[in-house]
Amino acid sequence: MAKVLIVEDDATIRTAVVRALGERGHAVATAATALTGLQLAVAEQPDVVLLDLGLPDLDGRETLRMLRAVSRVPIIVVTAAGGESDMVRALDAGADDYIVKPFGGAQLDARIRAVLRRLGEEAGDQTVTVGGLQLDARSRRATLEGRALSLTPREFDMLHYLALREDQVVTKGELLTHVWQLPYTGADKTVDVHLSWLRRKLGETALDARYLHTVRRVGIRLSAPLSHEPDGSAPPGLTPEAPKTLGCVRRRCSSQP
Ligand code: CA
Repeated sequence: MAKVLIVEDDATIRTAVVRALGERGHAVATAATALTGLQLAVAEQPDVVLLDLGLPDLDGRETLRMLRAVSRVPIIVVTAAGGESDMVRALDAGADDYIVKPFGGAQLDARIRAVLRRLGEEAGDQTVTVGGLQLDARSRRATLEGRALSLTPREFDMLHYLALREDQVVTKGELLTHVWQLPYTGADKTVDVHLSWLRRKLGETALDARYLHTVRRVGIRLSAPLSHEPDGSAPPGLTPEAPKTLGCVRRRCSSQP
């Protein structure tokens, strides 16, 4: 099941799509204009956006660009038959897939599942490294400075989600929606509680943050600590080997004929 946002001005198509996706177990939100669509994409945090390129208030590609600026959500654009150049431009502008009108519910459902599967595979295959923190999604192993971290499944998912978005501020609502698959009401302390557990396991606190930084009134950002910047220096006592030496050896080897 996915949470799908449909941005479509044609009420007949909208109703048909809502019914078709509802029957297949998806949760559906709708918008009849680009501006409402943009607002809902932020407020509802959908898993997929189905975006009609022919909307009354904004040009389709403009809408797509604005949507990309505020969200990384997968976007499937809907074009009228014969609108091949529109479709190519939409893909270039950041759409993940396209579907041509008229389309059936089964085809749309297949496209949605394919986009989500691709996204899951991309994320799932990745071993993410941020500073001394390494997360292997396949084995679900997490290490910090080479030491294994004992994380619960939720803690791993939360840390992995943040690490995939290194240096970006992630809102608590986004975490709750994507990691817990729960709607965000603003009053929920789930994310805060897990954040404090994670901080303890990473050996840091909110006041003395190394990886997990609270951005006031916005959310959480995961960044490598300054001691892991490419100058090679490491926090005292954590990495006894000198990474600089390795770099020199590599450079010298590669410069030899
Ligand atoms: Ca339209």
